[in-house]
Amino acid sequence: MYFEGKDEFLEERMAKYDQWIEEGKVPTSSKVVPVVEALSGLQWILPTQQAVEVIRNMRSFALANCGCRERYQRCDNPLEVCIFTNDIADQYVKDGKGRYITLEEAKDVLKKAHEHGLVHLTFYNPDQFVYALCSCCECCCHDLQFMKKYQRPDLIAHADYVAEVDADACVQCGACIDRCVFDAQKKEDEKVVFYQNKCYGCGLCVTTCPTNAIKMILRK
Ligand code: SF4
Ligand code: SF4
Ligand code: SF4
Repeated sequence: MYFEGKDEFLEERMAKYDQWIEEGKVPTSSKVVPVVEALSGLQWILPTQQAVEVIRNMRSFALANCGCRERYQRCDNPLEVCIFTNDIADQYVKDGKGRYITLEEAKDVLKKAHEHGLVHLTFYNPDQFVYALCSCCECCCHDLQFMKKYQRPDLIAHADYVAEVDADACVQCGACIDRCVFDAQKKEDEKVVFYQNKCYGCGLCVTTCPTNAIKMILRK
């Protein structure tokens, strides 16, 4: 879902990212991180790729309001879910726009975001590479809008995981269609069809599938 109409803020931001990518300063604007809950059976494989590990390895992190939802106000998803890191975190706290939190509090924030079906994205900038771990909705997030409104899926990197569906275990309930903002799960001719090439590996469909028909596997 996206909103029609010119959006100068998004277009300027997209141009900045295109320039940084062209100059080799960042590989993409952001990268999908799977929800922790989708990986429970796999956590020993690549723990550094989990959202919790992204922040655990930071010198400093702080919680702030979601700037995109404050700007666009298109949904009632939770506001206080943006986790900024290192120098950006310190600046947010100094400016009174964020507060330092413990790792346990960060886990609770990620859990709440997951319950609301928000996609975890790590954001890049040239100064400190990963500067934020966000929990994003498709109506307000700048990067998900780049993808949908401006047809720029290349600006978001896939997670290192991808979903795999066991067709025999699927009962065609359609819950995964509602969870997937990347349109990898679709209803066609009254059947739920999974397009693995469209899956970004967010893991959100895994945790609501009533028959555990979906699991995350390492992307080849
Ligand atoms: S990137 Fe996501 S969590 Fe961060 S401010 Fe935008 S929508 Fe909110
Ligand atoms: S949520 Fe699970 S059971 Fe339901 S349609 Fe999707 S894969 Fe099938
Ligand atoms: S199918 Fe969609 S919801 Fe499921 S992991 Fe892939 S991108 Fe996420």
